[in-house]
Amino acid sequence: MAKDAAKPVILWFRKDLRLDDNQALTAAHRSGRPIIPLYIREPAAAGTGPLGAAQAWWLHHSLEALNRSLQKLNGRLVLASGEALEVLCAFIKESAAEAVFWNRRYDPAGISIDARIKHELEKQAIEARSFGGQLLHEPSRLMTGNGTPYRVYTPFWRALEGGGEPEPPLDAPAKLRLASQPKSEVLGSWKLLPTKPDWAGDFVDLWTPGEEGAQQRLHVFVEDALEGYKENRDYPARPATSMLSPHLALGEISPARIWDATRGLSQRVPAADIVHFRKEIAWREFSYHLLFHFPRLASANWNDRFDGFEWRNNSGDFEAWRRGMTGYPIVDAGMRQLWRHGWMHNRVRMIVASFLIEDLMIDWRRGEAWFRDTLVDADPANNAASWQWVAGSGADASPFFRIFNPVLQGEKFDPDGDYVRTYVPELRELGPKYIHRPFEAPKSMLDEAGITLGQTYPKPIVDHASARNRALAAYKAIRDAA
Ligand code: FAD
Repeated sequence: MAKDAAKPVILWFRKDLRLDDNQALTAAHRSGRPIIPLYIREPAAAGTGPLGAAQAWWLHHSLEALNRSLQKLNGRLVLASGEALEVLCAFIKESAAEAVFWNRRYDPAGISIDARIKHELEKQAIEARSFGGQLLHEPSRLMTGNGTPYRVYTPFWRALEGGGEPEPPLDAPAKLRLASQPKSEVLGSWKLLPTKPDWAGDFVDLWTPGEEGAQQRLHVFVEDALEGYKENRDYPARPATSMLSPHLALGEISPARIWDATRGLSQRVPAADIVHFRKEIAWREFSYHLLFHFPRLASANWNDRFDGFEWRNNSGDFEAWRRGMTGYPIVDAGMRQLWRHGWMHNRVRMIVASFLIEDLMIDWRRGEAWFRDTLVDADPANNAASWQWVAGSGADASPFFRIFNPVLQGEKFDPDGDYVRTYVPELRELGPKYIHRPFEAPKSMLDEAGITLGQTYPKPIVDHASARNRALAAYKAIRDAA
């Protein structure tokens, strides 16, 4: 049906808070129609699931940043709250828009909401068009030879690598034809920022939400840290990873833009570093591939053998873990980094997750929920897939019996203890020999470092060797029952 070029198109922003490489935006721009840029605060649990508190902080600043970018083009972002279909219908009525464009989301709840909206809008003869770009490839594009989804990462990676380059990223339009803007809600009234207390005070030291911040991170990473990434990425005290995850989580930068930035560097950066970084981006793709094809990944054991696992779920232990008071320095440093900056290094995420699941025998879903609330990069696919990976219950998961030893992991990946000292100041004066095992340090050394175990720093809440045996026995029980 021919559309009236004077009638607006609603550009519905979701987890794509950027102008760069935004396929829906480019299509709206190319249609020549005036654009209404709209962000809808959907009810909790709709779309991409309940918004965690740390990501709510990020969202506030990201929406401000997007609004600033639109203001430079003489527009502004329109904000509205409610069920997306109702909000869209109200705006269509008010503005006489004849089209709604958006970029696809891939979580199960979001997919079903969007399918219904598309159907309803089309019934009303409204053009409803969705686009890709949140992933390098649509989750249905890369399939095994039998036409089934991948369950194992390595062949998935091979297919991705051999499947041709992703579409080149699209530059942001230099100007936009913006419609006269309908009334907007006021961002402050959404109360996305914490107030009493303002626990996000330290976030600003580390993060610049918004697409400019994302582009800057990418630039700095490619210039300074991509070389050596393969080796350095496992050491949490080194500034070695891109820290692009929160920007990716809200779509302030596209994976195609990141991929593109790693092209043409072979003169300067060893191929092994580039490939390894791309492989991490591919882990994100794989997580989405799994979530798309196996939607229950987000909340149920992918391997249902784990349904019979006897979790202990001790609430005191859970609290000690959340607060970074387990008596294992690398675990405590990680949990405190999470609280202070809304982010944690990948190696340490694996260590703290293994500690929760295996040493404390607490259901991975409780850890996943805590991460969802406290991570600025909380991501429905990456978070669930990674927790299940550590638990051993996921697709292509780490075997349950490969239990991380928090002391040895600390000594291997934080050999001088710098990471621990940054986040666990009460251990700051302890030398490298005992920084990961203060409970074995001679009393004189503890005294000298001003540490009294059980008072200034906790004694270990479990003995790792016995906890390991306990977990293995519980695992054996479900394995034998299968
Ligand atoms: P880089 O090393 O610079 O990697 C670049 C990008 O690749 C990342 O931004 C991310 O998008 C992707 N990536 C890197 N490692 C992984 C991985 N192991 N799995 C999937 N994608 C990866 N990542 C999230 O984005 N959101 C989450 O909620 C999340 N929860 C996690 C929970 C647990 C228990 C574990 C073990 C990992 C989790 N991860 C999650 C994956 C990973 O820890 C982060 O993506 C990474 O630490 C982000 O830092 P970076 O951007 O500096 O990564």
